[in-house]
Parts: sequence; C-alpha cells; structure tokens
Amino acid sequence: MQEFKRVLVTGGAGFLGSHLCERLIERGCEVLCVDNFFTGTKDNIKRLLRNPYFELLRHDITFPLYVEVDEIYNLACPASPVHYQFDPVQTTKTSVHGAINMLGLAKRVKAKIFQASTSEVYGDPQVHPQKEDYWGNVNPTGYRACYDEGKRCAETLFFDYYRQHGLRVKVGRIFNTYGPRMHPNDGRVVSNFIIQALNNEPITIYGDGSQTRSFCYVDDLIELMMAVMDTEDAFTGPVNMGNPNEISIRKLAETIVELTNSRSPVEYLPLPEDDPKQRKPDISLARSKVKWEPHTSLRDGLRQTIGCFADLLGTGQPYHLVEPRLRQQEASLPPRSRARG
Ligand code: NAD
Ligand code: UDP
Repeated sequence: MQEFKRVLVTGGAGFLGSHLCERLIERGCEVLCVDNFFTGTKDNIKRLLRNPYFELLRHDITFPLYVEVDEIYNLACPASPVHYQFDPVQTTKTSVHGAINMLGLAKRVKAKIFQASTSEVYGDPQVHPQKEDYWGNVNPTGYRACYDEGKRCAETLFFDYYRQHGLRVKVGRIFNTYGPRMHPNDGRVVSNFIIQALNNEPITIYGDGSQTRSFCYVDDLIELMMAVMDTEDAFTGPVNMGNPNEISIRKLAETIVELTNSRSPVEYLPLPEDDPKQRKPDISLARSKVKWEPHTSLRDGLRQTIGCFADLLGTGQPYHLVEPRLRQQEASLPPRSRARG
C-alpha cells in the first residue's frame, strides 16, 4: 500500500535504521534520515541516496531539530556495549536529551513518535522470560548504566509526554537483533563470532558461555516496528520486540562454526561486568496486538548474515575487530582513562 507520509528516522544510517528507511521508502513514504555517523555509515544507505523521496541530514539529536514530519522513529543511539561504553556521557545525552528534543519536535508538529527502547531496561532479569510489566534489575552505577538508565529515562519521558501533552507515542523494547549491516567491529556476539569463524580465528566466549540471549532477524524486527507504529493511538506499549527462541552463547558459537565450516577453536575469556545471565522476550503482547510472529529461523538468518560478512571480508577492506582482551582490560581501568578507549 502506498502512503505519502513524511517520516523522520533518527539513527537512520545505522544497522536497524537503514533497514527501516528502506522498508518505509518501499511503502511510499518520504523519509528524512538524521544521523551523526557515530556508528552509522553512508554505505548503509547508499542504495537510497539517489531516491528523490529520501533525504539525509547529518545532525546530532542532542541538539534541537526543526523539521516538518508526520511520524518519527527515534533510533539514534549506539547499541553495542563497546560503542555505548566508549563515551558513556554522550550515550546518556543521546538517550535523554535526544528524547527530549524528538518529543519536543513531535509535540510541535503533532507527529506520532516511536522510541527504540531495549531489553536492557530489564537489566540482569530475575524474571524469565521477561514480560512488559517486569520493572527490571538494573545496576544504576555500572558500565552498562549509561545505556540502560538512559533508555529507561527516555521511556519515562515518552510516557510523561503522553500523559501530560497527549502525544501519540509507541515504545518498543528491542531484544538482540542481528543481520546484514551489523557493524563489523561493534563487538556484538553475532558479528564477532562470524568474523572470527570466517577467519578461522579463536571464537571468544565470555564466561562459560552458559548465558543466554534470544536473537531476532532484522527483517522480522522491522516488520514489527512498523506494525506497532500503525496501531491505534490508544496503544502506547511498551511492547517487547524480539524472537523468543533462546540459545546459550556456547550453542551459538557451535552453530556459527558449523554453518561457516570453520576450523576455529574456542577461547574462554572473563565475563564483562553486569553481563545479563539470561534474556528471552515474552512476546504475547506483540502476538495479540498486531498478530506478529518472527518468521526467520536462527540458522536461516545466520546464513544471510554470514554471506554478507563473507562479502565484506572478501573486498579486502580494512576492518578492525574489537580485540576482546583489550575490552576486558579496559573494563578494569578507572573510568577516566577508560573513556578515551
Ligand atoms: P547502530 O549503532 O547501528 O545505529 C545507531 C545509529 O544512531 C547510528 O547510525 C549512529 O551513528 C546514530 N547515532 C548515535 N548517536 C546519535 C546522535 N546523538 N545523533 C544522531 N545520530 C546518532 O545500532 P542499531 O543496532 O541499529 O540500534 C538502533 C536502535 O535500536 C538504538 O536506539 C538501540 O538502542 C536500539 N536497539 C537495538 C538493538 C539491537 O540488537 N540491534 C537491541 C535493543 C535496542
Ligand atoms: N559475548 C561473547 N563473546 C563475544 C561477544 C559477546 O561471549 O565475542 C557474549 C556477551 O558477554 C554476552 C552475549 O555474548 O553474554 C551477548 O553480547 P552482545 O554484546 O552481543 O549483546 P548484549 O546482549 O550483552 O548487549
């Protein structure tokens, strides 16, 4: 169905944002992609740059933005632990000042606004699987707090703008998502393991690998995000967004080694501080509200992702995989010296 809406996507040059921009253009929307290129790249959106209905603006959302749009997807924020811990103060500013600026914009132009929140609002959860009514178990002073608490505060702001100003808001709590265009050096587990496996280098498992995550393929996630945006105004969420297919990190490593026919051995490294032990979304709300189901199996999604990383490595372009030992050493340094990472 063609829709002539003007849609702003913050963080539109990032992993999820670039896929979202493509789907919106396919739908017939006019898309304004705003990004400061901290982790996003023009490469991610190069297919869209010649499209007359796609516009790119380099801008940092911690500063006000004056544009006219009908809908806003607020995705701008580094998402991998390595990236969001690089400059933790900026991470909190992006979540909190960024949310204030985007909510202010939505209020002025009467736009509907979606917030890309995260499963990290549940911290290291004591309830399993996580339902939306669980308030979480977050360390407010740890290394992950800049992200977790920033996103929690952003949720607070969204609901206060909803109650105080009658804004049309939607909050989606995204669980681990993977797929083509993940940043090759963001240190996330799927990209790390695939690159290590393709290079026959040791697969770095942090801890004993018994910790679990539930991985959602990017296409499934974007479909849900857009379906939630389309719900009636009375529906605000928060709504969990992810694939409930839970897997241990050790099993993930074995699967990636198998799918890449790799000769990589496994190397066990210390577990980072506050690393959640288990994570699995309860998606009954998404199922009942928008009749959504994730369609892509982990093996199919991994095959697609492996293909893209193999192409990337095949180009011989320089890339730098975050050295896990360095990450561990940095984690034990005092915050001031660590911040320059
Ligand atoms: P990403 O790092 O690939 O994308 C984030 C984008 O935001 C990048 O293009 C970056 O340059 C941009 N950005 C960062 N700070 C900015 C600022 N101050 N102003 C403007 N642009 C800025 O990460 P992603 O995986 O695509 O995540 C997108 C959103 O989804 C994030 O808000 C993240 O918290 C959320 N999320 C992602 C996952 C996941 O598994 N990918 C899980 C939970 C939540
Ligand atoms: N992990 C790992 N090896 C790596 C990268 C990550 O064992 O090379 C683990 C990490 O400690 C965590 C899980 O994989 O338990 C998921 O990490 P990621 O950074 O992808 O996302 P998180 O869910 O922790 O935000």
